[in-house]
This record gives sequence, structure tokens and C-alpha cells, in this order.
Amino acid sequence: MILSNATAILHDAATESSGDLILDGAVVAEPGAKPAGETLDVSGCVVTPGLVNAHHHLMQSAFRTLPGTRGVPMAEWLPTMAAAYSRVGISPELMRAAASVGVAEGLLFGVTTVADHHLSWPAGLPAEASVALARATAEAARELGGRLVFVRGAARDDPNEAAASAEAIVQALLPDASGGVSKDGMLQLAVGPAGVHSDPRESFERLGEVAARHGLRRRTQANEQVDVAIALEKYGKRPLDLLEEWGWLGPDVTLAHLCDVTDDEIARLAAAGVTATHAPGCDVPMGWGIAPVAALRVAGITVGLGTSGGGSNDAGHLLADARLAMQVSGLVGDQLPAREVLGMATAGSAAGLGRDELGHLRPGAAADLCVWDVSGVADAGVADPVAGLLWANPGRRPRHVIVAGRVVVRDYELVTGDAATLAASVRKFVV
Ligand SMILES: [Zn+2]
Repeated sequence: MILSNATAILHDAATESSGDLILDGAVVAEPGAKPAGETLDVSGCVVTPGLVNAHHHLMQSAFRTLPGTRGVPMAEWLPTMAAAYSRVGISPELMRAAASVGVAEGLLFGVTTVADHHLSWPAGLPAEASVALARATAEAARELGGRLVFVRGAARDDPNEAAASAEAIVQALLPDASGGVSKDGMLQLAVGPAGVHSDPRESFERLGEVAARHGLRRRTQANEQVDVAIALEKYGKRPLDLLEEWGWLGPDVTLAHLCDVTDDEIARLAAAGVTATHAPGCDVPMGWGIAPVAALRVAGITVGLGTSGGGSNDAGHLLADARLAMQVSGLVGDQLPAREVLGMATAGSAAGLGRDELGHLRPGAAADLCVWDVSGVADAGVADPVAGLLWANPGRRPRHVIVAGRVVVRDYELVTGDAATLAASVRKFVV
């Protein structure tokens, strides 16, 4: 495929061009490759790598704007969400429906890879039944053509049960993959307790053992204000002290949120090689504060971007959250330039997932990309169309989206599924 006549092509943070981009099947072609196949006219458009949403809770897509979850402390939010889950019942049908709308929504917004940190597992669920929940999510993403990272999370789960489930999910969904990624790169598995505020040392250790056995990435949430408060109350220590003691600060670990971190903690995270996920579209409405992203980056920490789930951020619109991240960054340090935030939403997120082939458009990269039409009135007068992706036209959507060389959104329409049918499939679960 050839994308022809682009206004700008953002290959990576350091490289931009204009004109044509050639894809060779599922990857970006090497320089000098002969174009073959379809020509997609992208004049008047900016081409960027596909967005990588590093932190979502897809099941919450069926529970957006739930009464009793806005403007309340975490201690009220959690039981309100949990009560809604148990009224509906966490089933493969719910998982499939919620994941379908979450992934479809993401694709329509330019998210080509989403990490689903799934935290809600019914107590006493046999490992085989937990596989069915994971499989429903994985199948939904595969059918729609989006890349999925399914994170076997835990939130007050029995540690051994969580580990047995994680092991069974790996065996069932990735029987012959190494490093936790399927051969075609469309499915990745990872593990991650919700945080030290909810899960004991044993959960971190047992899930960490599964990760070590299969080369999976580890992901958790840390230093939302509530996490710090509970850790101090329960253990007399701050969350990162506990994570360090429990062997959960390392280059394979990504920490989401990090709203309340000290300068000393930032230095320790950098030394440990930990990566971070910024999620302002959750942290701001939840009242947790704003992660000091500029300071994290200056310290050498790779920062990605995530939306978090529908229970706190009712949209899976990562570009909108990139705009928010840029806008609020100046309140807690130096304002982040648009290109740096775009880099976080692409390569930064991908690095935390250990996926070198994602988040950029250098030769050999995965052919995951977005085509943003900047020829309309909302972008008129914009001097810098790449920076304008964030500064101008809030709520913008990509005209075309390609994942692994396959067009999944064309002229603003989902082509891999019927969006109206997907939306209807969730409606019956709304309580
Ligand atoms: Zn979260």
C-alpha cells in the first residue's frame, strides 16, 4: 500500500517528512521499496504512528457515568462500581460486549493498541472460567483488528488463585509464544495487581513468578493519592518502598498514575529503569492530582499515556487525553511540547509494553498508523500541523486508521465491525 502526498509524516520524535509512505504488508517498507497495491490519497493529512493506550480497563466501558461514581472519594467509588458489576454479573458475554465497544471506540479515535488492565475477577472463579473471560476480550479485539495487551490484574484476589488463572490464560491464549506476545503481534499478555492499596505482597510475588516464567511484562498502579494514604496507614510506608521490597521496581515494570511522587522517589524510579503511564483523563476528574511528567522525563523515565477506564474517564479518546496532558502539564512543571506528548502516546506507551516495533513509523515498524485530515476549518490557520493535532480541533478523529497494514477505519467509519451493533450489545448490560 502507498499513502500518497501527506502534508506531514511523523515517523518518530526526531524524524518528520512529507509526501509518500510505503507499507510492505504488515510493516513499514524499507527505503527505496517499490510501491504495490492500493494507493490511499492522504493529501491534506498528517500521518502519525497509531496511538498506544497504555492503561485502560475495558470492562468499565459498560459502566460509564454510573450514578455515585462522580466527585466521590475512592472509598465510595470502588464499592459503587463493584455493586454494579455484581448486579450485571461478570461473564464472557459482558467482557466481549464491553471490550468490543472499547476497542472499536479506540480504533475510531486512532488507538491501534490498547492495554486492558482487567482487575475484576469473581472470587472463587475456577482458572478455566477465568480463561473464558480473557478469551472473550481477546476475541473481541482480534475480530475488530486492534492490538490488545490483556493484563491479568488482581484486586483483593486470592494470590494463588490469581496466579493459577494467569498461568492458565497464558497456556490457553499464547501456547507457543515467547515474551508474552503472539507470533502476529496482535495479542500480548501481562500481569498486574491493582496496587499496594488493594493487594498483598503475596499477590505481587505470585503474579511476578508467572511473569518471570513466561517473560511477561508487569504492570501496576501506584501513588494515586489514595494509594499513598492507604500504604502509610496499613504498612507505615509509601507505595514505592513496598514495591521495591516486593521486587516490583525494574525495567519490566510500568507504573500507572504516579500523581504523588517525591523528587527522591523519581530518582529511585529512574535508577530502577521503571517506565510510567500518565493518565490525566482519570487522575484529574478523580481529584488525584497531576503526575509531574516533565520531572519524570527529565530524570530519564520513559512515560506513556493511558486513558484508564470508563468508571473514571468515560472516553477512550487517547488524543483528547494527550491534549489534556499537554494543557495541565504547566501546572506542575514545564509545559510539555505537543510533539513530546504525541511521543508519549505512541513510542512511550509502546516502550513500557516492551514493543519496539510499535509507536513509530521507521522502516520495519509495524504498519500501525493514523491519517488525520487537517484541511478543514478547525485546522485552518494552524502554522504547525503536527503540533496542531493537539492544540487545535479538540475531539478530532482520524480519517483512516491502519493496523498491521489493514485498513480498520476508512473515512471515519469502522470497517471491521458494525459500530451500531456493538453499541447495542452493551446496552442490555447498562444498569
Ligand atoms: Zn487505572
